Amino acid sequence: MNITKIREDFPILGRTVYGRPLVYLDNAATTQKPRCVVDAITEEYYSVNANVHRGVHFLSQQATELHEAARETVRRFINARSTNEIVFTRGTTESINLLASSFGEACMTEGDEIIVSTMEHHSNIVPWQLLRERRGIVIRVIPMSDDGRLLPDEYERLFNERTRLVCVAHVSNVLGTVNPVRQMIATAHAHGVPVLVDGAQSVPHMAVDVQALDADFYAFSGHKVYGPTGVGVLYGKEKWLDRLPPYQGGGEMIQHVSFERTTFNELPYKFEAGTPDYIGTHALATALDYVSALGMKDIEAYEHELTRYATERLQAIEGMRIFGTTPDKGSVISFLVGDIHHFDLGTLLDRLGIAVRTGHHCAQPLMERLGIEGTVRASFSFYNTREEVDALVAGIERVRKMF
Ligand code: PMP
Repeated sequence: MNITKIREDFPILGRTVYGRPLVYLDNAATTQKPRCVVDAITEEYYSVNANVHRGVHFLSQQATELHEAARETVRRFINARSTNEIVFTRGTTESINLLASSFGEACMTEGDEIIVSTMEHHSNIVPWQLLRERRGIVIRVIPMSDDGRLLPDEYERLFNERTRLVCVAHVSNVLGTVNPVRQMIATAHAHGVPVLVDGAQSVPHMAVDVQALDADFYAFSGHKVYGPTGVGVLYGKEKWLDRLPPYQGGGEMIQHVSFERTTFNELPYKFEAGTPDYIGTHALATALDYVSALGMKDIEAYEHELTRYATERLQAIEGMRIFGTTPDKGSVISFLVGDIHHFDLGTLLDRLGIAVRTGHHCAQPLMERLGIEGTVRASFSFYNTREEVDALVAGIERVRKMF
């Protein structure tokens, strides 16, 4: 991969902050956008914009074609069987809330259980807690080893005749652990239980094949995979989506409405009430085409090597503690240095132009498990370089000497 050339596609990477070149290492929070994605947005607003579906006029039909072509692009990108299985949402969070609401309604009663993991993002915990309040369900938690690995035997032991769903992150946004979701899904299926995979941190970094994984549901966000904010995806096997009731009511999701009785639209529209973010879906498809052209395998290999290099260099810093040390982890490194508070370290790195994230990373139960309040997190993209890793290391050394 020609990183110098790739970086030219991302105008923001050329800017300075506090008079220093920007070193953007907060890619797990959101990724920067290539020019083609921003162009797709402006071009569609300037030359196509019209509300989608059922419009007889030219622009509406063209906008509908772009929107539905985007659904096909997403289908291909994650290798779903059918576009009926691709529901557009606002992001991972909404995808999970949709499922908690619809699956909870159709498939769960008081005392039924779900299994989540210790390392889940709040967005894969709190929707289930809200369901617990409404329905009296039970949430069981897969424990984790100190290096950040979910314990397979403990996982297996959590299943019983009341287990209805497993909800697990493919890649941890804090530890970088790549969970063995394929095996975990096979285990769940052996117990007759479907699985939701939170793919927010996997889809941007590796080739994902929902059929090979045999995932029942798979959620991800557009903005973390170089697309726009405000658009995301819930993949669901057709047999499941068919069974589930709508999430929100409104236009688009109906077949016929009368005051006595309303019938619902076919898949996937049943789950897409209201005007969809059709500009966003087209821009997301543009982003997926962009990363596909780079090659997900090449992206994964490059980021893996960069993360390996960063880990090696960071480990050499005195007082360095890295959280999440499983082999073959994703491109996220969470750490603390000596007794420097994560917020102080992040703030001082910021003054050097280095953007990292600090805090609990929306994973407070995981922080509790690790016995810490928060970490500094550096997360990498294919547009990051060894020089940027060196700048991070030099920055940390500089802060360390101040303390
Ligand atoms: N799950 C994981 C693992 C995440 O990293 C994030 C974003 N930090 C989310 C869910 C939520 O994504 P969003 O805010 O885009 O809905």
